[in-house]
Amino acid sequence: MTKKEIMGLTLEELQTELMGLGLKKFRAEQVFRWLYEKAAVDFEQMSNLGKETRQLLAEHYTIATSQVKVLKEYKSQDGLTHKVLLELTDGATVETVLMHHDYGYSVCLSSQVGCAMNCAFCASGLHGFVRNLTPAEILAQLYFFQSQLGPRGQRVSRIVVMGSGEPMLNLDNVLKALDILHSDRGQCIGYRNMTVSTCGVVPGIEKMTVLGRNINLAISLHAASMALRDRLMPINHRYPFADVIRAADAYEKSNGRQVMYEYILLAGINDRPEDARNLADALEHKECVINLIPANPVPEKGFARPSDQAVDRFFQMLKKRHLNVTVRKEMGKDINAACGQLRASALKEAQR
Ligand code: SAH
Repeated sequence: MTKKEIMGLTLEELQTELMGLGLKKFRAEQVFRWLYEKAAVDFEQMSNLGKETRQLLAEHYTIATSQVKVLKEYKSQDGLTHKVLLELTDGATVETVLMHHDYGYSVCLSSQVGCAMNCAFCASGLHGFVRNLTPAEILAQLYFFQSQLGPRGQRVSRIVVMGSGEPMLNLDNVLKALDILHSDRGQCIGYRNMTVSTCGVVPGIEKMTVLGRNINLAISLHAASMALRDRLMPINHRYPFADVIRAADAYEKSNGRQVMYEYILLAGINDRPEDARNLADALEHKECVINLIPANPVPEKGFARPSDQAVDRFFQMLKKRHLNVTVRKEMGKDINAACGQLRASALKEAQR
């Protein structure tokens, strides 16, 4: 008998599932808490279930957290960033990053294996799109780390969906995982401490607006002229950035969450004074923050990081226009922590 995956079900779905096995309804909540509050990786840990129940569950189900295999693991020299390349049951790989900030731990989750968006500077799409991740596989990325932090009395308290893939193209699975993580019987992470980042898939932004959760929205803008953004981000042909900004404005109006615009700085490409002017024209008077990200060069892509002076010049130009702008604090630069870089380098090695 092939086992089913038990992670990724809502509490109600888990109740139906376990009652189908002849278990009492309240068992589902116990199992839910073991999985999502206590980060259990094995049914044997579930000490408030009888031995027979534990065995029954183990005969029928797997726990995704214990199904992922660490293929590569890197810790930055400062010890604050821990990145892993995880192998899933079908051999696909995803990368996940744990970051230790002064306020606690956050994880950066991947939403897809590979990516179809083909942004000119990004490593995630180098080997094409493979498939969407299931809710269980999204959860397993977080619980891989939480199962290590828990025994030390620590917990992941923030989530950014900024790993590989385009979350808006796998939105149902992403939101299902985030809802489970939000549950007060689980990891109990407030929606305000979650951020979903998109390259600008307008229908996804609109769907999130209708759903009305207080999740933070980040938009990967990277250029504010049609010609340049078309060149850097093919999605701009489908959803021009002005439409993306309009959709993001509506999202901000619907729940009051300030939108974050990400802007990677690529030397000589989008870091010129005219680029800063275009960006300021597009975003001034909006309730938003602009996060400048000096590019992490991906060798295959041929872009360079601007000098610190160029970054500062760009920053100052936006400041003068009264925009709320920050420069991203970089973590894990020494461990290929830009999205998709670790997986891409592992795939490259495998092809040698
Ligand atoms: N597809 C979503 C989720 C990925 S988020 C999105 O585009 O928003 C990952 C962020 O890192 C995006 O803003 C992406 O544009 C950025 N990024 C990709 N490649 C990068 C690189 N080489 N250096 C710095 N940031 C990069």
